[in-house]
Amino acid sequence: MIWGLGFFRAMGVTMRNMFRPAITVQYPDERLVIPERARWALVHKFDESGRPKCTACMICERECPDDIIHLTVSGDAASGKHIDEYRYELGACMMCGLCVAACPFDAIEMSHEYELATPDPHALVRILLHDVDAASGKRAKADAPATQAALAADAAPDAARGESDHA
Ligand code: SF4
Ligand code: SF4
Repeated sequence: MIWGLGFFRAMGVTMRNMFRPAITVQYPDERLVIPERARWALVHKFDESGRPKCTACMICERECPDDIIHLTVSGDAASGKHIDEYRYELGACMMCGLCVAACPFDAIEMSHEYELATPDPHALVRILLHDVDAASGKRAKADAPATQAALAADAAPDAARGESDHA
């Protein structure tokens, strides 16, 4: 082994890296663009009138593997449900997205809010909805993109039939 070879190898690595472009950013002055599929804090979705799309069906509460979604609901489906409180324990959320996938009304989503560190433990429990009427299942279903896509697909053959009838 040649004496001093290791030193020159190390210097070679140093020189190579010295002229490489930086792969880090100066956070928080600079921020990377968050990918669309990123999953961070859970939030509710609202219709065009600002009403929550949540129907208080409780499916997300049942599906959450961490048991950190808690709904307090009054009323019933016949007379209309009222959401007294929709509580979400952000600090215990593993951002798996199972609640979003399970929601049949497209009423919640994982936001891109990622700067969640806080010295206040109370801030890690969020009341996402408070004292609001739940959406009716019928309206929320009609608003859901999957339902709209299905309705459009249903309407397409009818429209084609109508055109051929008029031809
Ligand atoms: S509508 Fe969606 S967000 Fe509301 S309780 Fe049902 S599953 Fe949860
Ligand atoms: S993202 Fe996962 S852990 Fe967090 S509330 Fe939804 S189901 Fe629960």
